[in-house]
Amino acid sequence: MKLLVPVKRVLDYNVKPRVRADGTGVDLAGSKMSMNPFDEIAVEEAVRLRERGVATEIVVVSIGVQQCQETLRTALAMGADRAILVLTEAAPEPLAVAKLLRALVLREGPRLVVLGKQAIDDDMNATGQMLAGLLGWAQATFASRVEVAAEADGGTATVTREVDGGLETIAVALPAIVTVDLRLNEPRYASLPNIMKARKKPMETLSLGDLGVDVTPRLTTLRVSEPPVRKGGVTVGSVAELVSKLRSEARVI
Ligand code: AMP
Repeated sequence: MKLLVPVKRVLDYNVKPRVRADGTGVDLAGSKMSMNPFDEIAVEEAVRLRERGVATEIVVVSIGVQQCQETLRTALAMGADRAILVLTEAAPEPLAVAKLLRALVLREGPRLVVLGKQAIDDDMNATGQMLAGLLGWAQATFASRVEVAAEADGGTATVTREVDGGLETIAVALPAIVTVDLRLNEPRYASLPNIMKARKKPMETLSLGDLGVDVTPRLTTLRVSEPPVRKGGVTVGSVAELVSKLRSEARVI
């Protein structure tokens, strides 16, 4: 069974974003970029499914600038087999990404697409759901456990999801979309030999035109601003003083 895993290149999660002075977005110049952390979890899960003999091939895909090749090489070093870069200078919004992924799904024929539940740069949490809608496939979002029955057993994914009240376990018929949550697994570090091996794994570059998808934006970012600065705290000397301040200054009790 072939798996498709989309991986996005984002500002590294340890880097504090700098908002451009004119409020048009986040300044990425010279900043460390990495694979979206949820996508690392998706790659790890795909590799585990292959190690369990369920998956036979893992194709990773990234949509973005030339440097996304580094993100794809990381995924290949973790164990993916083949990579596709869809080259575009403009950062596509989720609907455009979903349409491009749909075109790749029709080309590649995977039985399962495993995505991150959200990209940590735009926090959209939309691409997997839109892809399921465009394809008319079943979807299981926010997976914290994934089991896939072999095709011979009906081709089903049993997915445990973290919901407000606890854990919900659902079964979806393949082909399906799974989006992964934080507690699904702990992604492996790529070993040096695997990083070397990854350099030789196939990587194909496609243009937007190759996939014939209209990526005209539908969203306009009006303004990006820094979060409000946290006001300094005070240390109180006693519980009585705390209660008094909460009552007279904060007026919350
Ligand atoms: P989002 O809907 O933007 O929060 O992204 C959800 C997931 O869609 C990510 O975790 C990735 O798996 C995938 N994705 C979004 N944008 C891209 C992209 N430019 N290239 C590859 N995968 C992407």
